[in-house]
Amino acid sequence: MADGTVKQVNPFTGVEVWSVPGRGNKPLGDNFSKVAPAPIGDQVREDYCAFCYGRMYETAPEKARVISHDGRFHTLQRIPPSTFTEMVPVFRRVSNLFEILSVDYWRKNYNYKLSALNLRWKEDYLADPVGLKHVMDLIDYKLRRSGKSDEEISQVSLENRFVMADAFFGGGHEMIIAQPHFTADAMDVEGLYSTGDMSDEEHYQYYMFIIEAMADIVANNRYVRSLSVFKNWLPPAGATFDHLHTQVVAIDEWGESMERQIKMVIQDKNVYNAFGPNFAAHHNLVFAENDYALAYVGIGHRFPTIEIYSRSVHARPGDHTQDEVRGMSDLVRAVHAAIGGNVSVNEEWHHTPLDSIFKIPWHVFIKLRVNTPAGFEGGTSIFINPMKPNDLRDQIVPHLYELRTSGNIASSIRIAEECVLRPNPLDYYKTS
Ligand SMILES: [Zn+2]
Repeated sequence: MADGTVKQVNPFTGVEVWSVPGRGNKPLGDNFSKVAPAPIGDQVREDYCAFCYGRMYETAPEKARVISHDGRFHTLQRIPPSTFTEMVPVFRRVSNLFEILSVDYWRKNYNYKLSALNLRWKEDYLADPVGLKHVMDLIDYKLRRSGKSDEEISQVSLENRFVMADAFFGGGHEMIIAQPHFTADAMDVEGLYSTGDMSDEEHYQYYMFIIEAMADIVANNRYVRSLSVFKNWLPPAGATFDHLHTQVVAIDEWGESMERQIKMVIQDKNVYNAFGPNFAAHHNLVFAENDYALAYVGIGHRFPTIEIYSRSVHARPGDHTQDEVRGMSDLVRAVHAAIGGNVSVNEEWHHTPLDSIFKIPWHVFIKLRVNTPAGFEGGTSIFINPMKPNDLRDQIVPHLYELRTSGNIASSIRIAEECVLRPNPLDYYKTS
């Protein structure tokens, strides 16, 4: 509009968003605490929170772990409880102690039972005195957090405790935790280790580990229809811990938004190209790409949002080739690095549900949590996004050039006007 207001409607969700002049001048990363941060010593570095390496028995039994050995990454499955400290983890995969969809949800609605593999793991784990103590301590903690007194907790039978323990061995809400809490050169507690601090290779291994977790959840729970994958970074994004982690949640439906998107694909197979990169390219919002993925500023989001799309003919992350995952991983990490670890973000994965015969492309949203929807939004359903799409692009592009010049992101990433932008760059609609 003449005054500079940019009105947008998200083509996939119908959400109406206005970017109004003067509200987007705040620099990114300005939402951080102004209290003088506490210094960190070696002890604090490993013990700072319950996700830290020094407190591994405060998270659930470890379903899997990635270690680095002889310059290579290896994945170990279902770690024996007595061996936690024998190998330094790069990434750990554990149940969320406070599940969004609990194991009871699956048990009571579907008569879900632990798979033979997970049941055997549970039995082996509890047969080890270290494992038994670990699990009983966690159950005490969960009961205490649910408001039970010490006396009430002492009355919970062993049988009930064993049933509760199913959540740790076969629940469908997991966390993939990166090892360090702080960067190696952090001097104080604001030196948090964030996604951009990983190398491209580490981030690729992280993505592969998440994709393996998705496959393992599905292999052990046949009622799962879709998987929600997300990362909440820093408290404004909903994070309870400022220790880097991604969550995977198994769901028994697609969700309203995905239902609508699949209907759009049925009506127009090419809708993700038409309303995605084709539209973004015409408005000069595509700002980075490689041979496997592309990134542009999304429109019609409540928060300033970058959308990163896989170009692959394969729709689900688990169907992607290693090169395709690597391409997505490189571009997502580059965007995180350009935004910076002091900005609160959500990373959300969107991908084809397990039981959909219609494909949508795998795409990742990175939402910058720099604004809080308030009364105006509640009353009008018009959302005020503080940054115009062009402004967000213009903040990110110079950082990408700097990162590429310094060798911090992959040289295969093309930036801004280097992008080729062929029409219909997403191949999901083709037959693989
Ligand atoms: Zn920590």
